Amino acid sequence: MITPENRQPGKEASLLCPSYLAKPGVRLFGIVRADGRVSFLQQPLVIDATFVAAARRGRPPEERFRFAGKCVRNGCHQWSEAKQVCTLVDRLIDQLEKTAVENLPGCPIRSRCRWFHQRGATACAQCDEVIRHHEMTFLETTIDS
Ligand code: SF4
Repeated sequence: MITPENRQPGKEASLLCPSYLAKPGVRLFGIVRADGRVSFLQQPLVIDATFVAAARRGRPPEERFRFAGKCVRNGCHQWSEAKQVCTLVDRLIDQLEKTAVENLPGCPIRSRCRWFHQRGATACAQCDEVIRHHEMTFLETTIDS
């Protein structure tokens, strides 16, 4: 888990947001199952414009897949400049309150995941059930409340 003492600038620059939009060049790393949980791929796949176009037919791709892209820190409205953290994962943990499990599911982006870097296994405990659509709904109902 990240603290001011163990922050590594080089590592920070390489971290990925695990809640990214479907865009060419981002990494597909999970598929949302019928029960809403996520099956993780063994290796993330970089998607292209053809994939994005195909995935946009039907339900939004962010409801069916999980994508990861570069964490842009100040470029994202979820970033807290004061705390130097992603506030989205903190809110999810506060809201869902799921406790971390000992044996984490395999996740192909864990070594570079912003959420895991920040909150460790507790982030993963919420992540399996989260899809971007739910996050947006959650945020719309909690922002400024
Ligand atoms: S929070 Fe955990 S499970 Fe979710 S993307 Fe990050 S490392 Fe993977």
